[in-house]
Order: sequence, then structure tokens, then C-alpha cells
Amino acid sequence: MFDILVKGGTLPDGRVADIGIEKDRIKAIGQLDAEAGEVIDAAGDLVAPPFVDPHFHLDATLSYGQPRINASGTLLEGIGLWSELKEVMTEEQMVERALTYCDWAASMGLLAIRSHVDTCDDTLKGARAMLKVREQVKDYIDLQLVAFPQDGLYRDPTARENTLRALDMGVDVVGGIPHFERTMADGAASVRELCEIAATRGLRVDMHCDETDDPMSRHIETLAYETQRLGLQGRVNGSHLTSMHSMDNYYVSKLLPLIAEAGVSAVPNPLINIMIQGRHDTFPKRRGMTRVKEMQAHGITVGWGQDCVLDPWYPLGTADMLDVAFMGLHIAQMSSPEEMARCFRMVTEDNAQIMGLENYGLHEGADASLVVLDAATPTEALRLRAARICVIAKGRVIARTPRMDAQLSLPGRSASTRRRHRT
Ligand SMILES: [Zn+2]
Repeated sequence: MFDILVKGGTLPDGRVADIGIEKDRIKAIGQLDAEAGEVIDAAGDLVAPPFVDPHFHLDATLSYGQPRINASGTLLEGIGLWSELKEVMTEEQMVERALTYCDWAASMGLLAIRSHVDTCDDTLKGARAMLKVREQVKDYIDLQLVAFPQDGLYRDPTARENTLRALDMGVDVVGGIPHFERTMADGAASVRELCEIAATRGLRVDMHCDETDDPMSRHIETLAYETQRLGLQGRVNGSHLTSMHSMDNYYVSKLLPLIAEAGVSAVPNPLINIMIQGRHDTFPKRRGMTRVKEMQAHGITVGWGQDCVLDPWYPLGTADMLDVAFMGLHIAQMSSPEEMARCFRMVTEDNAQIMGLENYGLHEGADASLVVLDAATPTEALRLRAARICVIAKGRVIARTPRMDAQLSLPGRSASTRRRHRT
């Protein structure tokens, strides 16, 4: 007797299987004939582990247009705009916006999020707000928080002290922004000190790193070096790494093996990178996407992150990690069947690995969290940005969405279409 039985779904690896759920765990996977409190018929549908977003800003989300929009579309104007906004935004407003976003995420089967939280604020209201949100959503979203000195660990006079205070309050991960420090030397020093703080406290590291078109922005090299020096392998992530797009090829041929040896993962954010980078170029205009396939070929774990939804840096966004993977697939030209399937894994399993999620996945003993999609395969899910027919979080059905069928009135043609296609 299961609490929930998901019948006949197609798993991302192509197997057709039933999934039996007991309390908050997957109890069994296979051909199951037991009774269940609730049966979900997934015949013909893809059943996947939940979507994971390893890079987001929950303290800034849903604030687009306040107090004004980002006219230049650049990273730097966005940071300036956020500085104005965080002065006036209250803790309650941050909580309310973040919870609204978490509703959206839950509806899209996005059940694990790593969010940076700005620690350059003497009141630390963002950290307090996000800790409240983490507690409030814990039954359906695993929320990891990164202490993020947005205005620079050394560039902002109280950032260092406030970042340490945020970690003392229970923020999970150490962040940084070396390319925003005043000099390359300060950037490198900030990477070193932040990694030492993480090593001392037994924490993970996730830095905004080299989010610039400057080919000489090479802080990822320091991040990988410090990871090795301090024995942090497998616990450190470099976010964005856009400068790698513009770096000299010989230099990159030496850099990628170092990142691989150090066990540092990478999270490009395709929606934001394509929107923000290349703004100083005329034509040809750079894409602002790091070297995704090249890193994967070296065995480096690469995920796709969303970064922003309706905030000072990005005027769109839907909490749909399939949108993110769809954009990444295009910019990184990951068009072979294997590469498209890999893009789906990047927003599920690879992102889960980057966040160090325990009990993630579709296997016996894992968290009973999964998504039933209106698609037959991972690649079809990407093509359709498929509806989440049913979302289960830790043993509870938390969201349902109708299929995307359109009713047609065409002479001699079928009365409806679902746009699914058997290849
Ligand atoms: Zn970010």
C-alpha cells in the first residue's frame, strides 16, 4: 500500500516505470501492482526529478520597475539601481515577493533553489527576510542561501563584517564578486579570503566570477587554485564565467584542466548572460556565454542557472527552468540529440549535484519529489517548455496544470492539437 502511486511514466533515461511513494520518500520503482491512496496516471508522459535552480536572487525578484527601469541594460546600472531599491524596500516586502516567486517555482516543479542574498546592508534585512522564507517554504522547496557581498567584499567598507554576520545568522554558502572589486589584485585577494572563510566554517562556495566581457578577468583561475589549496574540491562553484567567452584560446587550454582538477563546477545563466553581456560591443557582438561544451568535455560539471526574474537586471522570467535550458541550448549550440538531452540533465541532476542535494533523484529512498510533464522525452519537454501536469514535493501533490491542448476549428482537421511529436 503506497500513499501515492505514479503509474506508467517514462523516466528521463527512457525506462517506463511506476513510482510508489510512502510518506516523504520514494519506496519503490518498477512494475508495481500495490494499492495506493492516490493513483496518478502518467502513461505516455515524462516523469522527471524536480527542476533545480543553482543561481537566483530571491531578495530582488519581482521588483522590476522600482524605483525605475535599467535603461542601459548593463550589469553596472543594475547594481546601482538595486542599491537605490534596497535602501527603501522593507523586510516584509522582500518576504512577500519571495514567497510569491516560490509559488511560481512550485507550480513549475522547481523545488530546489540556491539564492544569493545581498549582505552589503548594515541592517541585513535581506538576510533576515530570506531566512524567514527558507523556513516557510521548507516543506516544498529546498532553499540554499549564499552570503553575497554585492558591492564588493573590500570595495564596500562594511561588506566583510556584514557577510560574516550573515553566515553567523545561518546563511549556508559563501559568495563573492571579485570582478567588481576595484583592482584585479583586490579581486584575487577577495577570492582567497572568502575561500578561507568557507574552509574554516566547513561551508560551500559560490561566487559571481568574471561576469564581464574583459578577457583579462581571470578570477576563476584563483578560485580553482584556492579550491585545491584549501581542499575544497567538489564544494565550489563559479557562476557566470562570461569572460571565458573572450579569453585567449591558449590560456583557456591551460585553465580548463585546472578547473577540472580542482573539482570546481560552473553555472552560466543564459537568459541574463545573453541579455547583459556584449553591451559595449558594436558588431560582431559577443554572446557572453562561457565555454559550456568545452568545460563538459573536460569533465567539469556545468549547470544552467536562472539568475533573475523581473528585477533590476532582467525584465522577464517565469520560474521555468526549461526556458533557461532552452536559451542555453541555443547560445551554446548544443543541438545534437545527446547535447539536448544533456541540457535537460543540467537543469535537474547536474544542478542538484552542484548544490550538493542529498536524497535527490528518482531512486528508492530518495525524496518523493517529482514532476509529471506534458511531453514524452526530455528533449520534447525542452521543445514545448512542457506543462507541469502534476508536481509532487516530499510526498505531497502541490501543483497541477492542465495540458496545453488547443481547440481547433479547421475544415477536415482534428478538433484539437497538443503539438507533441513522435520522432
Ligand atoms: Zn547572480
